[in-house]
Amino acid sequence: MTMHRNFIAGDWRDASDGNDNINPSNLGDVVGVYARASRTETEDAIAAATEAFKTWQFSTIQQRHDILEFIGNEIIARKEELGRLLSREEGKTLPEGMGEAVRAGQIFKFFAGECLRIEGDRLDSVRPGVGVEITREPIGVVGLITPWNFPIAIPAWKIAPALAYGNCVVIKPAELVPGCAWALADIISRSGIPDGVFNLVMGKGSQVGQAILDNRAVAAVSFTGSVQTGSLVAAACSARGAKFQLEMGGKNPLVVLDDADLDNAVDCAVQGAFFSTGQRCTASSRLIVTEGIHDRFIEAAKARLEKTVVGDALKEGVQIGPVVDETQLAQDLNYIDIGRQEGATLAFGGERLERDTDGFYLSPALFTDVRNDMRIAQEEIFGPVATVIKVKDYDEALTVANDTAFGLSAGICTTSLKYASDFKRKSQAGMVMVNLPTAGVDYHVPFGGRKGSSYGSREQGRYADEFYTTVKTAYTLPL
Ligand code: NAD
Repeated sequence: MTMHRNFIAGDWRDASDGNDNINPSNLGDVVGVYARASRTETEDAIAAATEAFKTWQFSTIQQRHDILEFIGNEIIARKEELGRLLSREEGKTLPEGMGEAVRAGQIFKFFAGECLRIEGDRLDSVRPGVGVEITREPIGVVGLITPWNFPIAIPAWKIAPALAYGNCVVIKPAELVPGCAWALADIISRSGIPDGVFNLVMGKGSQVGQAILDNRAVAAVSFTGSVQTGSLVAAACSARGAKFQLEMGGKNPLVVLDDADLDNAVDCAVQGAFFSTGQRCTASSRLIVTEGIHDRFIEAAKARLEKTVVGDALKEGVQIGPVVDETQLAQDLNYIDIGRQEGATLAFGGERLERDTDGFYLSPALFTDVRNDMRIAQEEIFGPVATVIKVKDYDEALTVANDTAFGLSAGICTTSLKYASDFKRKSQAGMVMVNLPTAGVDYHVPFGGRKGSSYGSREQGRYADEFYTTVKTAYTLPL
């Protein structure tokens, strides 16, 4: 197999080391071999981006618009092929993979529009005759470090605003899913973008990622991934005064009240907790259910899970694909053991499944009789494992929902306007959903959380300019 190379300074560069990209639905299927960059190659990419920034920062908004529009259009035109690649390397079902590809395309097209809407302010000075202009300028070379669970959407939602506001990019995708990032780089390389403005360096976090964090030429780092790696990013960036933004874990609550529409609540819970194999930072892993509806909710959720099809991500009719790799599967199974030891009841699933091909298949696990102080209710598992916590009423539900170190997304299922409004105001999460799953967000509005889930300004939508630009205040006295 030929190696997919890194894209540095406008060239596809060979690397001495490569990484097999394995299909988690079929371990005998190698999606491709992808280059692993060294520290030196990463430094070359940063140097190329630094050089390119000298002119790219003054590029016209029309040029940037046209490049982003080209990228977005091609992604959408190739949604089926890119969706298939995504499902093959990450294990999302094909409809989920295609949906993510479309979303990535829409993000590029949204930011193509944003290029034309970069705003500033003009104010009078307090001094006579002086005018004050406040403008947004690019920050420089940005390092983008992404996780495995959204292999095309997360790179897209960092690359698109970075380029739209005139920055140069060095991106390091997760080692498990280099295929989508490479395909995206291939499209970007043909978009008319000048050499060095965009660079792809695939490889290990400890090498490539660390080289990005350590390099003083990288003005800002946008990171999505685990809390553990996020704290390394924070420490390295703070030490050298670089700007940084972190999107990390979640342990998202979905509250189900007695007055909820039962079908809708079960839909929200099953989709939010188990679709995309539960491998979403916004997954509803804590289902907080009031006692009047609790037993009916459990029965209906179990009945729904009975009918849920787990299997090869590319097979028609499959609703839940495999877990992404062996390490993640071991982590999920370990937490299922921990849940049992803590005294929770495994009401459904939690077993490794056999399918036609050798893959990391796990049946969705639903724990009941869970207390919110149990580890399975507090720690991010990042798999198809959900916990049900029974509560007396809305007030207790709200307290339990907020009793977590995380604060990314939170949901409530209710037909009461009073409780929905109160929850929207009092939830300590960055995103709140009423009668909708906690996962599944739009591409044109801000995304991000509070507490241990996020640090820094929001991603996506027009709020992305807070991270990818710096503000200048200019005073003029016309003579
Ligand atoms: P991870 O932290 O292991 O890896 C994330 C990225 O950091 C990868 O590209 C990795 O190679 C890189 N990295 C690892 N060590 C590094 C180092 N020393 N220096 C620099 N970079 C380094 O996370 P993951 O396992 O890929 O992703 C799963 C996690 O991501 C989960 O915790 C999930 O909640 C989180 N996530 C959060 C969001 C969000 O927006 N909040 C979205 C998706 C995923």
